[in-house]
Formats: sequence, C-alpha cells, structure tokens
Amino acid sequence: MAVRELPKAAGQPCGHLLGGGRGCGIWGAHPPSCQTFHCLWRHGEAPEGLFPPDCGFLLAAGERDRWPVAVQVVSLPGRRHAWNTPENREAFSRLAAAWNGVVTITDAEGCATHAFAPSGRVYSRTLNPEVFPEDGARVAVPVGDYRPAA
Ligand code: SF4
Repeated sequence: MAVRELPKAAGQPCGHLLGGGRGCGIWGAHPPSCQTFHCLWRHGEAPEGLFPPDCGFLLAAGERDRWPVAVQVVSLPGRRHAWNTPENREAFSRLAAAWNGVVTITDAEGCATHAFAPSGRVYSRTLNPEVFPEDGARVAVPVGDYRPAA
C-alpha cells in the first residue's frame, strides 16, 4: 500500500524495510499510517479462505475506533481484478453487514471504486458518483444502509 507520509507508492517496497522485508528500520517512529494499519488476515478477522497471497488482495481496516469502520480491499500487484468474483462479493457484503461498516475496493492510487454496504447494496463509482467524493474523502454510503449504532 502507499504510505502517504513517505515516498512510498503502492506496490513498491518501503525504503525502511530491513532483513529482506522481515522488519522495519524505524519501528517506534514509523508513520501514523503504518501504526494504524490493521490487516484482517493477520488478526484472524478475514473471511475464511481470504489469505492475501492466495486470493490476490488484502483487507485493511482503518480507524477502528470511529464508526462506521471502513475496510479497504487492496489488490496485490498484478492481481487487480482478483477481488471480483461472486464468492468474494458475497464475502464483502457479509463482512460489511457483520461489522455494520463499509467495504471498499480501492484502485492502485488508493481511490475507492466500489462500496459494499451493510444493507447488501453495492455502489460503484461509475453508477453512483455521489457516493465517491473526488477529494479522496471517505465514501458517502447513505446512512439508511447502516443499522443504527448501538
Ligand atoms: S512499518 Fe516501517 S517498513 Fe513498513 S511501511 Fe511503515 S515505515 Fe516502511
């Protein structure tokens, strides 16, 4: 993933990687984007079968203390369309419903192209541009697509 605080583009290795990718050379002073990164597979929260190297994407949750939680589907290099299967779409809808949050598909620039809502609706940037702000802000899924916050 791109790290906005660093000169690190999506799909490029970070200049702070140590040991062939097994560690971070600035751990403890690593940027906020890295500190808040939350990989669902690593935390045992990804739907069954969605191991990133096998399925072709990872699921990353941002700002988990802020409702609604947004989960990004980030494609691995060379696997841009791997997410788009009926089984994965079903898994994203179930995840959005379970977390009462939104699951977004993001392109290589980190721009959301699709949004899976807890209601089961799926929005696309092409058909529903009003849901996808141009300034890169969070997607604006209508509030009626969520269950009321507890
Ligand atoms: S955690 Fe460290 S190695 Fe990983 S992207 Fe952030 S700064 Fe780079």
